[in-house]
Amino acid sequence: MDSKSRKVLKTVKARETSDGAGVKLKRSLGTQELEILDPFLLLDEFKSDVATDYIAGFPDHPHRGFETVTYMLAGSMQHGDHKGNSGNLVAGSVQWMTAGRGIIHSEMPKQKDGLLWGFQLWINLPAADKMCEPRYQEFPPEEIPEVEPEEGQKIRVIAGAAGGVQGVVRGIATDPLYLDVTLPARSRFEQKVAPEHNMFAYVFAGEGNFGVTESEPGQPVGVHNLAMFSQGDSVTVATTDAAVRFLLLAARPLREPVARHGPFVMNTHEEIMQAVQDFREGNFLD
Ligand code: MN
Repeated sequence: MDSKSRKVLKTVKARETSDGAGVKLKRSLGTQELEILDPFLLLDEFKSDVATDYIAGFPDHPHRGFETVTYMLAGSMQHGDHKGNSGNLVAGSVQWMTAGRGIIHSEMPKQKDGLLWGFQLWINLPAADKMCEPRYQEFPPEEIPEVEPEEGQKIRVIAGAAGGVQGVVRGIATDPLYLDVTLPARSRFEQKVAPEHNMFAYVFAGEGNFGVTESEPGQPVGVHNLAMFSQGDSVTVATTDAAVRFLLLAARPLREPVARHGPFVMNTHEEIMQAVQDFREGNFLD
């Protein structure tokens, strides 16, 4: 059989930072240490039960040229954009926003206290799609399929396929896999992945052994660490005494030039200058 199991190449510990109007974050992708994992541009985890860490939220700001994915675990966020779209992202829901040619939006906590916990992921768009019309795919928790391949495992299938089930988010240019995986202690999970896709895992609870192969036990990866993988057509994660919960992401790399400036991600410096000018002159607003 011509199959190859992926191994962990490197792990990156998330860094404390803040963004928006002062929301405290753990950033594991989109840092000096790991600027890009083509086509993934950024991964932030926000988790706090101290209101001052999140209450200022993310007031009006633009995006152009890529997609932002907000996945909530606890609490809720109020979303609104310049076209009048709005929604409340509750615990367990996902919003996949294709910014395309331009969105100006706000993402504000819809709570004054209690735990706010979730993730924001940025995924690049191919050059041909960077100026597409903006669009949303937004799903409440009950619409995200869950599978239990083995006893005690819980896989939420946001995009791509797992356990014979298709994820709720469809039609994304880079053909992504986005899973929220919970494994109990002494468990083993194998996931198929397109061999040419780039992949990473981000652990947000517990610890597991990632990149298990027939001959090797895999590498322990603990909470708030991102693991990058070699190429292959599957990945295996196993647990020993502890449970683990992680995001598993894979997508088709674009292999195109990346010009990045704050909330704009284009292919050239000229396109970035144009984005800045369009935003300044209100040309996102028609
Ligand atoms: Mn945003």
